[in-house]
Amino acid sequence: MPPAPLAREVLSPGSVIGILGGGQLGRMLALAARSLGYRVHVFTPEPGSPAGQVADLECVAPYDDLARVREFARGTHVVTFEFENVPSATSAAAAEVVPVRPDGRVLHVTQHRLREKTFLREHGFPVTPFRPVDTLADLRRAVGELGLPAVLKTAAFGYDGKGQQVLASDPDLAPAIDALRGAPAVLEAMVDFTLELSVVGARSVSGEFRAFPVFQNAHARHILDVTVVPADIPAPLDAEARDLARRILEALGVVGLLTVELFLTRDGRLLVNELAPRTHNSGHVTMDASVTSQFEQQVRAICGLPMGDTRLRSPAAMANLLGDVWVAAHGRPRWEAALALPDVHLHLYGKTEARPGRKMGHINALAPTAHEAVQLALRARKALQCPRPPA
Ligand code: AMP
Repeated sequence: MPPAPLAREVLSPGSVIGILGGGQLGRMLALAARSLGYRVHVFTPEPGSPAGQVADLECVAPYDDLARVREFARGTHVVTFEFENVPSATSAAAAEVVPVRPDGRVLHVTQHRLREKTFLREHGFPVTPFRPVDTLADLRRAVGELGLPAVLKTAAFGYDGKGQQVLASDPDLAPAIDALRGAPAVLEAMVDFTLELSVVGARSVSGEFRAFPVFQNAHARHILDVTVVPADIPAPLDAEARDLARRILEALGVVGLLTVELFLTRDGRLLVNELAPRTHNSGHVTMDASVTSQFEQQVRAICGLPMGDTRLRSPAAMANLLGDVWVAAHGRPRWEAALALPDVHLHLYGKTEARPGRKMGHINALAPTAHEAVQLALRARKALQCPRPPA
C-alpha cells in the first residue's frame, strides 16, 4: 500500500524515511528517526544489516536493481543515504519517485575526489593542492609540481584511507601506478597539519543551517580512532570552520547533512580534505554530548523540521571500537568493566563478525574537560580488553 500523501515540505512523524545503505550510520539514523515517531525502510544488499535490524522494513537487493529501488522508494516519503558510494543511477531511480536528500548532484560531486576537489577549488574554498593522475607520465608531472612526499588516492570509492598510497621517493611512482590497475586517481600534496578537524553541518528544506562545534580527530592506521570536542582551537577558528561548512553546504545546495573534514596547517590555515554527504564517525560524540544528535539533525533536515540545537551539554570524547578489541579480549570484551565507569556510554552496531579494522561500535565519555573525557574514553576502551578474572 503506498503511503497517504502528505502536506508539502514538512514530513511529519509517522511518515516513512527510506535509507540507502544498511551500515552503522543507517542504524543510528534509524534509531533517531524511530525515536521521533518516523517509520524507517532500509535498502541494502546485505540481509540482517546493522540498519535493517532496527528498521521497520529491510529491502535486500543490489543497488543496481533499479526496479527494486523504485518499488522501495514508492513505499517512502523521502529517501536519504548513509553510504555515499551508492551508484548515481540508484539515487536517480529513487528520485523519480520521492525527494532524495541530499540530492543526486551532491552525491555526484562528493563520491569522486577529483570532482569534489575541483568543485571546491572553483568555488574558492581552501583545498589541499592536487593533480589528476591517470598514467605514469601524469604522476611524474604531478610530482614535479607538488613535490614528495605526496599521497596518491583513487578518485572513487575511497574512505578510511582505502585506496591511498603515500609516495616518498621516485622508485615508489611506477609501482603506485600499477597498483591503481587503471583506476583514475588524484595526487595530493602531503599536508603538514597540526590538527585534523571535522564539521558536521545540516541544512533544512527551508535553507536553515546549523553546524555542531568543531570536532578534533586522531586517526590510527588511517581509521578514525578518537574524537574530542570542544577541539583545542581558539573560538574564532571554530567559528571560521563552521562558516566554511555553511558556505560549502550552500554552494552545493545541500538539503540534509554533510561533513567537512579539515586539516589545520602548521601556519594556521584550514584546508578541506574531504566532504562526506552524510553523518560522520566523528559526529557520534553528539549522541551523548549534544542537545541534538547528528542523526536527529539529519532527520530534521530531510523532513523539513526546524534544525536542532547543536550546543554541547559537556566536553566529551568518542573512542572507536574496532574488531581488534574483540581479538584482544579473546572474543569476549568486558562490557561490565567499561560500563562501571561513570558517564561512559556504549554504542554497538549489531555486527556479529569482529574482524580487525572493522568498526563494531564506539564509546562516548563525558567529563568536565576535553582532556579528562579523552582519558575516560581510553580507560573504558582499555577496560574492555582486560583479561577476565578466572571463573
Ligand atoms: P582520507 O580518506 O582522504 O580522509 O584520508 C585518511 C587520512 O589519511 C586522513 O585523515 C589523514 O590522516 C591522512 N591523509 C590523507 N590525505 C592527506 C594529505 N594530503 N596529507 C597528509 N595526510 C593525509
